Amino acid sequence: MESDPLSLAAPGVRGLEPYQPGKPIEELEREYGVRNAVKLASNENPLGPSPKALEAARAALAGVHRYPDGNGFVLKRALAERLGVGASQLTLGNGSNDVLELVARAFVTPGQEVVFSAHAFAVYPIVTRAVGATAVEVPARDWGHDLTAMRAAIGARTRLVFIANPNNPTGTWLKRDALESFLKDVPAHVIAVVDEAYFEYVHEPDYPDALAWIGRLPNLVVTRTFSKIYGLAGLRAGYAVSDPAVADLLNRVRQPFNVNGIALVACAAALADDAHVERSVKLNRDGMRQLTEGFRRLGLDFIPSAGNFVCVDLGRAAAPVYERLLREGVIVRPVANYGMPDHLRVTVGLPQENERFIKALEKVTSDE
Ligand code: PMP
Repeated sequence: MESDPLSLAAPGVRGLEPYQPGKPIEELEREYGVRNAVKLASNENPLGPSPKALEAARAALAGVHRYPDGNGFVLKRALAERLGVGASQLTLGNGSNDVLELVARAFVTPGQEVVFSAHAFAVYPIVTRAVGATAVEVPARDWGHDLTAMRAAIGARTRLVFIANPNNPTGTWLKRDALESFLKDVPAHVIAVVDEAYFEYVHEPDYPDALAWIGRLPNLVVTRTFSKIYGLAGLRAGYAVSDPAVADLLNRVRQPFNVNGIALVACAAALADDAHVERSVKLNRDGMRQLTEGFRRLGLDFIPSAGNFVCVDLGRAAAPVYERLLREGVIVRPVANYGMPDHLRVTVGLPQENERFIKALEKVTSDE
């Protein structure tokens, strides 16, 4: 019997483009024979995890024959205390990607619409199409979310809107007043997700903490992660904060053991290590300056970013430059799949990594 899996696939899945992750260092070394490669491609914390998180993770290893706590008691308690919310408002995920998908699965049915911005995080269209819904991508303004246009795109069939603040890959962010007015104006039949994966990095005076609105906006879901400033991307843990009624629904579709036992304790320990977060913020601020000064010196434009990454505009197709950087042992992120073929996204690294990238960029852009 001949079978064509593509014809059997759910209609939304047939047209899906898989998520393209940053190239792993080992792959580059294997494929290109490069030594000592640096990876500035996945918005990871170059300082690594908090030593306290590592210690907790090591201690938890001996218990991996047991299933993890399916309710994540220890981590929820730590989060509730730290964020000033109730444990019943929390949903834990295998990375915040997992939580983004839970929202789509819990609330969106085939034929409904999900609104998000052009150049916004790639997981939004994936989770939308995977549940058979229609993605409504709203053109951006100055690379950022155009909230007026996004509001106008919300209609009777809309069930969900995704806002990334700051956004990846552009690094653009929304100010308090603008985002609050938008959220207040979202109709009652729509769930609004504010994705704050880079929240801890941002220190702009007008940058809002969306948690402040949770009590007043019952349809608001705020997502955050341990993958970025906490340096635990490999452990896969993130969470959502929402009204308890929304959290209850998200937890109904969640797999019982979606967050592993090592992550549960390591993340709780990471939350308590303020000094590590502070070091990471400072390193990022200095590194961002180093990168943007480098771009200025090379005469390259860039999109001002509030995250731990920045998009540089090469003024021409970025793909060949990306390839040549790989040969120099520097992995950054091409963003053509985000509708940005002339940009490369680079994650802020350690000072010597930033230096190596700028030197490599200078070399590959000057000898052509
Ligand atoms: N949201 C945004 C805006 C991101 O950039 C990322 C990571 N690339 C995520 C969510 C998901 O990260 P994780 O699943 O590791 O928490």
